[in-house]
Amino acid sequence: MEKQMVRRCGYATSDKALRATVERLREGQRYREDGRFQGTFQVAVRYYFAPLAANQSLSFHQVEAQHAELNRCYQASLVKEIPNNSVYDCASRFADAQIQFFPWGKAPGEALAEADVVRLPLVPSTVNLGQANTLASWIQAQGYDLGHGALHVVFTEPSLPRSHYSQSVKILGFAVPGSNLAVINFKTVGSPSVPNLTDLPEFQEANQGHTLVHEAGHCLMLQHPFPDVEIPLRQPCTGPGSEEIQRTHSTVPDLPLQKRSNLGLKAADLTLAVQGGVAKDNRGKDASRVAVGLSVPYYGCLTQTQHFLGHTLECPWHYMDYGSDPTMKGFLQSQVDTMRAHLVKHGSVYGATLGGQTLGRLALRNLQDPAHDHPWIWAIVVGVLFLGGMLWVLWKVRQARRQPEKPTREEQRAQRDSV
Ligand SMILES: [Zn+2]
Repeated sequence: MEKQMVRRCGYATSDKALRATVERLREGQRYREDGRFQGTFQVAVRYYFAPLAANQSLSFHQVEAQHAELNRCYQASLVKEIPNNSVYDCASRFADAQIQFFPWGKAPGEALAEADVVRLPLVPSTVNLGQANTLASWIQAQGYDLGHGALHVVFTEPSLPRSHYSQSVKILGFAVPGSNLAVINFKTVGSPSVPNLTDLPEFQEANQGHTLVHEAGHCLMLQHPFPDVEIPLRQPCTGPGSEEIQRTHSTVPDLPLQKRSNLGLKAADLTLAVQGGVAKDNRGKDASRVAVGLSVPYYGCLTQTQHFLGHTLECPWHYMDYGSDPTMKGFLQSQVDTMRAHLVKHGSVYGATLGGQTLGRLALRNLQDPAHDHPWIWAIVVGVLFLGGMLWVLWKVRQARRQPEKPTREEQRAQRDSV
């Protein structure tokens, strides 16, 4: 049976993950205003190559190009590279993540060397390549510690088992949100200047190294801008079954709601004109609608009228959508905030530093706002004060009842007069 190729990365959105991301986003907004967390984060990364067959190979040149591309994408937004026919009319705002990756065991800024890439033996067929845990256990059994202190990137050929889909599905990569393990299809490794050479047509626009950029985003707590179960194009965004996109939207507030991914978006799509005779920025059209053969552009969860009046268009050219590698150009401000906040709080997981200082819980301590981070403390304080007040009132009332009432001045005078 022919294997299907999709950019699915096995990432599942849960309520808990969404809540955590909203929290990260809120923190990110606070950190952005705090001078101590400005500057470039340094994150340690360790690369592994785990081939499935003897004829699979990955050159150091490709890994080196991938490392350079990862840094290029995470340090500055490349959105200016997108062809701009008219006005930049998208509501979303791109920003520089300012995250630098350096080889594990070296100092920030040091170059990647051939010896830094761990070359593992052939992966036995008993290892499930769609599960992070089983793959990680096997790598640990080979004598490599996948613990805290680096982002571990395993280049192999991941696939989802038949239990997930009707057939075995090859995937470009996957990552567990908030974890420090990303599993990447080795055929995607490279950069625009050094694309991975492959004879597979489905990889031709996914061979410039942006799969790792996407999966590393998941490791740093980023979500997809669309729900796991895609909403039919004709179904309203507020209708039944669409709750998930509303919740997803809360984690990327500078992105318009998306019913589905922009899977299939190609570089050529970015130059298509918007229909309707209005010279708006063509970067806002819904590429997925074009991909399924509908000629009229469709604007995510907005009607065409709302699109032209409100100018809130879809922004499919960021790393967390499912566009092809040439269309992935940057991170949105909310995504940058989320990742930087995650690093401030959990940076030690990735061996991260900022201005030479190790990140983690200690760095966060002074910044925590007790009212925000520990609302239960204030609930207890308010409760104790309320109970104390009630007891004081009760005591006063009882005391007043016990004491005989003091005679008023008129009564005292009357008493004196009667004597
Ligand atoms: Zn993903």
